[in-house]
Amino acid sequence: MNPHLPRLIELQAIDLRIAEIKHQRRLIPDRLAAARAPLHSATEALKQAGASVEALTKERRTCERDLDAQESHIEKMKARTGEIKTNKEYQAHLFEIEMANKKKGEVEEKILGLMETIEQLQREMAAAQARVREAEAAFEREQRLLDESDAALSKELAVLDEQQRGAAAAVPRDLLERYEKLKVQRKDHALASVRDGTCQGCRLQLPPQLVAEVKRSDELQVCGYCHRILYWEGELPAEAPAAAGSPHDYDDEAGESL
Ligand SMILES: [Zn+2]
Repeated sequence: MNPHLPRLIELQAIDLRIAEIKHQRRLIPDRLAAARAPLHSATEALKQAGASVEALTKERRTCERDLDAQESHIEKMKARTGEIKTNKEYQAHLFEIEMANKKKGEVEEKILGLMETIEQLQREMAAAQARVREAEAAFEREQRLLDESDAALSKELAVLDEQQRGAAAAVPRDLLERYEKLKVQRKDHALASVRDGTCQGCRLQLPPQLVAEVKRSDELQVCGYCHRILYWEGELPAEAPAAAGSPHDYDDEAGESL
């Protein structure tokens, strides 16, 4: 095996984990926003119910003032009864009082309706408040978990960055450049293992001669289809991380040729 290959395999394992960590950390703001959504809608529902209660209470107060005005109007009319002289006037006066009483009854009915609606809304508000508290607790829980996860990932990333520098320093500059270029072209996978005569990067069958070379030769071999640097699976040196294999699926690359 080429002496630089174990270093490259190690480097790729580190780089893949770094990429995975960065991906996970990028997802955190969206996960946080998703966790906040139920709290937001519960708070909005509570706010709306509160605004309705406020508006209806205001309307109820207006109605109560109307009722007071109507009652004193009726009282005044009744007080004038003694001043009435003719029967015709008296009939008209009674009719006026009757109309005023009718109007008073309507206002009273409206107040009762408003009171019922307000009570109903207040019950809804209590339920909405409970939902807000629940959503708040759930959000805080999720936020704490995400914060912890982010802190752990950030810590791991710092260690990996250090390891990455060490691993990269152990690879000759020209080979490192080749690796970096392939890494960009091949979605972080510059290296591919050979298993069952197949390149595990592009899943294409390799010529038996090339497979034999990968297994035996000290020269670096590349896949003729995806151009990844090949290494023999199962002959990895003990110190190379076991995670050198690809965690991603490559089926989408099958059949590609360059
Ligand atoms: Zn390939």
